[in-house]
Amino acid sequence: MPTETFEFQVEARQLLQLMIHSVYSNKDVFLRELVSNASDALDKLRLEKLWDDSLDADVSDPHIEIDIDKDARTLTVRDNGIGMSYDEVGQLIGTIANSGTAKFLRELREAKDAAGEEGLIGQFGVGFYSGFMVADEVTLLTRRAGESQGTRWSSRGEGTYTLERVDDAPQGTSVTLHLKPADPENQLHDYTSPWKIREIVKRYSDFITWPIRMVPERSATAGEDDGAPEPETLNSMKALWARPRDEVSDDEYHELYKHIAHDWRDPLETIRLQAEGTFEYQALLFLPEHAPHDLFTRDFKRGVQLYVKRVFIMDDCEALLPPYLRFVKGVVDAADLSLNVSREILQQDRHIEMMRRRLTKKVLSTVKEMMTKDQERYATFWREFGTVLKEGLVTDSENRDALLAVASFASTHHDTEPTTLKGYVERMRDGQEDIYYLTGESRQSIENSPHMEAFRERGIEVLLLTDPVDEVWADAVGEYEGKKLRSVAKGQIDLDAEGEDTAEEEREKQTEEYAGLLGWMKEQLDEDIKEVRLSSRLTVSPACVVSDAHDLTPALENMYRAMGQ
Ligand code: ADP
Ligand code: MG
Repeated sequence: MPTETFEFQVEARQLLQLMIHSVYSNKDVFLRELVSNASDALDKLRLEKLWDDSLDADVSDPHIEIDIDKDARTLTVRDNGIGMSYDEVGQLIGTIANSGTAKFLRELREAKDAAGEEGLIGQFGVGFYSGFMVADEVTLLTRRAGESQGTRWSSRGEGTYTLERVDDAPQGTSVTLHLKPADPENQLHDYTSPWKIREIVKRYSDFITWPIRMVPERSATAGEDDGAPEPETLNSMKALWARPRDEVSDDEYHELYKHIAHDWRDPLETIRLQAEGTFEYQALLFLPEHAPHDLFTRDFKRGVQLYVKRVFIMDDCEALLPPYLRFVKGVVDAADLSLNVSREILQQDRHIEMMRRRLTKKVLSTVKEMMTKDQERYATFWREFGTVLKEGLVTDSENRDALLAVASFASTHHDTEPTTLKGYVERMRDGQEDIYYLTGESRQSIENSPHMEAFRERGIEVLLLTDPVDEVWADAVGEYEGKKLRSVAKGQIDLDAEGEDTAEEEREKQTEEYAGLLGWMKEQLDEDIKEVRLSSRLTVSPACVVSDAHDLTPALENMYRAMGQ
């Protein structure tokens, strides 16, 4: 059958160049990536067979196999999972449209200056291509479950790859790495050593729920009749979330996080929960250290993995956490759900609802704990995810207080350090009744606003809110511990109210005096304003525009417009 040659897509080529030419501190992660893909492929096959019983696929012994051949210097990772069709191989392997890798490239570009390429690449895995860190040629043989013809893909990583249809491929995928010449200086990187493979699998992939087997090389002294050596299973397959806390190392948790989240960094926080009683479940949740770039896009994949009694059921199960916790990653393993539970059923299930409430509270109490125990970690968390969490102030009245307790905001009190509402209230001046805030596009634009003048003059603290969602929650929440939240740009604010009976009289007199001017201004600006009035809130600027207490502010109008409403 003819062999066709294709060019890698530009981004893919860049990534390959990085793989081939950089000197990594940790090449071992290539195996984690190949095993992770094989595991995903086995999950997918199981699910597809579950939905479509007529699928002509072998599901009798799902497993991953690692073969090493010392003489040929090859290492093969094989699975009997879902496999790929001819077209899929081209799409999935030839381009890097897949989220994980594209995300990585973007972050790499952003972080490049900070960390330097080399240092950065050393710690991550970027999926399939990482094979080129240790191999100068990679071949992949695959057949999609249910199809009769297979595909062979091959590349030396130099800009092109070849595709060829094959008739006798087994179901699933095998990836063969033709390893680079051995480095006599560095025995540590000998990937033809069973000891080395055992160690890497144990370290990175122990929790994988499918058996990872290795056939030890037949030793030279073994006699003919010793038969083929038994394959050994390298991973314990124990679900981390089901093991006692003190038996699992942080590193093991972190590896699971990386597998689930397709992140190459450690998580910021690990959260465990074991619920016992009539509806039993275990949860292992992670707060990432960085917000993904697509967190605010419509098609952001939110949700945790759902297992039922250690069996993987679905990715991105969004019913288990509210939308404002969509960045939380992890696993929830429930004991009493049906194995073919659907997303629709989950949305209405009473037990799921109970789990969601419990998990939500657990995440929020963890943030609260971070706040008291580890300020710096909390600050990182809030910087990355505060904007999303504030959505909860609008949508989740049950947890509003818990959310207000962990929220912090920029304020005129300090140039860089945000304040909690509690901190604000503690600093309120004698006679100050309300909590003041102003919304705007940036801290600077707010601080330059004429609305701020009187507050600055009188030394009254103002919260400086720059997220579009701030308008919405400040309105929805209304007050904190009995103190009203008031926008300094809305309605009448009389900062000199206390003890000045004359103020009102004075203003009336002045209004009469200036009636001519005010009337003229109203006439000139009639199309754009409702009213012109005298104010005590300005000290330097001659005039400013104020909205009614119940009007939409400009930022909010923009937000609704952006949401298409
Ligand atoms: P990611 O795993 O983050 O999607 P990879 O580069 O590791 O990125 O893999 C790219 C894609 O190639 C996968 O999403 C999957 O669709 C496909 N793929 C890779 N390895 C396998 C495999 N062993 N079996 C089936 N599909 C695979
Ligand atoms: Mg992968």
